[in-house]
Amino acid sequence: MSYMTLQRKALIDVLEQHRDEPLSADRIITLIGENASRSAVYRNLSALEKQGLIKKTAASGSNKTLYRYVGSDECRDHLHLECSACGKTYHLKVPATNALINDVMQDANFQIDSSSTVLYGICEKCRKS
Ligand SMILES: [Zn+2]
Ligand SMILES: [Zn+2]
Repeated sequence: MSYMTLQRKALIDVLEQHRDEPLSADRIITLIGENASRSAVYRNLSALEKQGLIKKTAASGSNKTLYRYVGSDECRDHLHLECSACGKTYHLKVPATNALINDVMQDANFQIDSSSTVLYGICEKCRKS
């Protein structure tokens, strides 16, 4: 495997392991470990974003860019919830939402991109604390 391919694979592995949590570029570099090349991480992040495999999001209360991986096949079929307090992502697996998406698509003749559709709110853990 070429160096760039290895760098990209390491990046995707990290993103897949942290699908519930948007990550900053710095955090990604730390998670990849000593083999991470900062410039390769940034280059790959922008390539993956162009391919629609990751979405950028802003950390609440700061202007730091975070990256959320939406590239797995299953993420194309459901909506996502994001906690505005802790940033955690929830993969919504409620059958009713699929019915809602289908209804909207038929009614409005609108193609919904489920993997990038996020409903914002506060998660259970953050409401309790
Ligand atoms: Zn998902
Ligand atoms: Zn939360």
